[in-house]
Amino acid sequence: MAKVHNYSAGPCILPQEVIKEAADAVINFDGLNLSILEISHRSANFVAVMDEAVALVKELLEVPEGYSVCFAQGGASLGFLMSAYNMIADNKKAAYINTGTWSDKAIKEVGAVGEAVVIASSKDDNYNHIPKGYTIPTDCDYLHYTSNNTIFGTQFQEIPNSPIPLVCDMSSDIFSKKIDVSKFDLIYAGAQKNLGPAGATLYIVKDEIFSRNRIKIPTMLDIETHVKKDSMFNTPPVYSIYVSMLNLRHLKKIGGIEAQQKINEEKARILYAEIDRNPLFKGVAAEEDRSTMNVTFVLTDESKQAKFDEMWKAANISGIKGHRSIGGYRASMYNALPVSSVQVLVDVMKAL
Ligand SMILES: *Cc1c(COP(=O)(O)O)cnc(C)c1O
Repeated sequence: MAKVHNYSAGPCILPQEVIKEAADAVINFDGLNLSILEISHRSANFVAVMDEAVALVKELLEVPEGYSVCFAQGGASLGFLMSAYNMIADNKKAAYINTGTWSDKAIKEVGAVGEAVVIASSKDDNYNHIPKGYTIPTDCDYLHYTSNNTIFGTQFQEIPNSPIPLVCDMSSDIFSKKIDVSKFDLIYAGAQKNLGPAGATLYIVKDEIFSRNRIKIPTMLDIETHVKKDSMFNTPPVYSIYVSMLNLRHLKKIGGIEAQQKINEEKARILYAEIDRNPLFKGVAAEEDRSTMNVTFVLTDESKQAKFDEMWKAANISGIKGHRSIGGYRASMYNALPVSSVQVLVDVMKAL
């Protein structure tokens, strides 16, 4: 089988080694002669998987004391609502930075429990940059932002310096680079962008939030429910958590986040260099806000589109068509995408 260069925006490419191990466990997990798909989530074998997944998240991200890690369901889209439910307190107001489709969706969910105050937005420029120079109001219960804008290809280069509790949707860049978890009260991420297959959502939470004057939260939406029950309040997404754990093991083996970050920076450097050098292409995102994960670009000469599309398909490249809301191309370069795949794309761009 010819190797496919998988630039999928999500669900993401995973390391071949992880896919292979995950496939084996469907047939025979842990030598039990049972599939991981047919054992109890309360069996010792799966409890060990859950414990290792949580421990690896803590170790790789250097999660400090006073924080908990849990897995829930519903994707990052339920995270929009869950974060609001768990973080809204006395002020009944929350500040949001609107940097794209996903932030916009998060803002819409706040209405269920309070008021969203949009303190900065790049919506009028079709989200081609990260807004700067905003003031964070201190009468809001928290500030929410989206660290990497999967669709538009922009990324916060720095964590906002917030005088109020900080919440972040890190779905598409968690585990791609070092972060200081101690700056956040709540981090959430759908697994399928850079952690594992779809089905699990990761929450990293400062335990202190549970003792705040929070509103009444439905059981399944309360992050404390999942923390207290070690992510087993109800049946967790067993397979997604298992494969995510394998992927985190792999990340640790290759040298952890620091090593991965270097690879990600190298991939971004190679592709952006070609976009900037080649007059046939133009980057979409403002240079200083460019994402290392999702690279958005367009052709400067539309008449070349059919030829370019034919060429990258012939090179076994998959998944670089841009999102329908922005058009052009988007090369998603999640952790498992090798540098060699980026070289293949750049060679096609050079040959156009
Ligand atoms: C994909 C994505 C989401 C939505 O994730 P689901 O798990 O499909 O709900 C939210 N935020 C960001 C930044 C994303 O990239």
